[in-house]
Amino acid sequence: MKTSFPKDQLEIVLLEGTHPDGTAHLESGGFLVRTHAGSLEGDQLIDAIGRAHIVGVRSKTMLTEEVLAQCPRLLGVGCFCAGTNQVDLEYAASRGVAVFNSPFSNTRSVAELTIAEIIALHRKLTHRSHALHAGTWDKSASGSHEVRGKTLGIIGYGHIGSQVSVLAEAIGMRVLFFDTMSKLPLGNANSVDSLNRLLGESDVVTIHVPDDHTTRGMIGAKQIARIKAGGYLINNARGSIVDLDTLRGAIDSGHLAGAALDVFPDEPAKSGESFSSVMQGAANVILTPHVGGSTIEAQQAISMDIAHKLTRFINAGVTTGAVNVPEVDLPEQSAVGEHRPHRILNFHANVPGVLGKIHEAASSLGVNITGEYLRTRDRIGYVVIDADPSDAGALRDRIESINESIRTRMLY
Ligand code: NAD
Repeated sequence: MKTSFPKDQLEIVLLEGTHPDGTAHLESGGFLVRTHAGSLEGDQLIDAIGRAHIVGVRSKTMLTEEVLAQCPRLLGVGCFCAGTNQVDLEYAASRGVAVFNSPFSNTRSVAELTIAEIIALHRKLTHRSHALHAGTWDKSASGSHEVRGKTLGIIGYGHIGSQVSVLAEAIGMRVLFFDTMSKLPLGNANSVDSLNRLLGESDVVTIHVPDDHTTRGMIGAKQIARIKAGGYLINNARGSIVDLDTLRGAIDSGHLAGAALDVFPDEPAKSGESFSSVMQGAANVILTPHVGGSTIEAQQAISMDIAHKLTRFINAGVTTGAVNVPEVDLPEQSAVGEHRPHRILNFHANVPGVLGKIHEAASSLGVNITGEYLRTRDRIGYVVIDADPSDAGALRDRIESINESIRTRMLY
């Protein structure tokens, strides 16, 4: 399949040292890929991406309106991470630039960290290690437990929670979960009908819900008091969910035997910055700097996920997984006789009448449309039209000239 320009003239620029597997995948698709090890800003950033059709970033490169406005050829952005705060999504959409992210490629990494912490907390591992580093031979079984036979309560049975469930059962734990959506229990896990019940029946509670109005402050004084005496709490989800002052009190009073936290209400913006929390110095509390999803394997999975999404977007117009424009998942263009239809991709302002104008153009040009897909989202519409090759170029030009059109390209 060709795009409106030769593939080797389609420029992809990847910043911030994204994993090389994704780069190799894009290169094997015939695209010209330039890479930069670090993030860039100001004139250096514009020099690097100003002529690019596709830009890939991780979390540090800020693609503001000012930056995006200086990238006239830009078709798509790949965020090689879960977050998209670094991109002005609304402005990108208004320019017909699709932005993709990879929210679930680090699921396994977070699940593995959680399992490691369940065992480490039950064995007071960090406490014993610190003592020995400090020269104290603290050989004792006091406060140490096996996890086999203990009950794990999982709040949020989504991508991560359900993986934790499977792994926890493999090491002999009984698993309960609470989710606001109806979820199929994996293995021998059991769903419970209330958060209170889950808290009251679990030896260790682990949180895997998103940050939203239903979860902010979800675990406060009442909920922590419900956890069994001597229990543990793990939060590797979002810092807004647990009230840390109450948690500290529960640890200091001995109500909870330990906790593990990877996320905090106020996290430093950059690696190397100083950090302070009420949880520092608490007994048998593991603190990690939001590294639950930070593994080489997750980076590799993210790079392949984004490389696949970008390739399908460039080659077929598929926007599945885009966060700021309508998602359209398209079948391959099928040949009609000897001809392969041309595919016209058009982002336009989501106002009434645009489709009518497109149909009018096709009808007046006598172009036979063989397939059509339309989705809208907020202020943007995305229409994909497969048309007979003979007049598709003329139709593309007419669609491009419609007032509401934002960006049009053709695949052939
Ligand atoms: P997911 O969307 O796959 O699953 C979330 C689950 O929570 C869903 O099943 C949903 O129905 C459920 N849920 C939502 N609101 C709920 C509520 N009020 N009560 C009970 N259940 C509720 O998300 P995921 O990929 O499993 O991620 C879970 C959390 O982990 C998110 O907060 C995410 O930001 C965080 N995360 C952290 C790291 C890290 O580095 N520590 C990495 C990846 C994800």
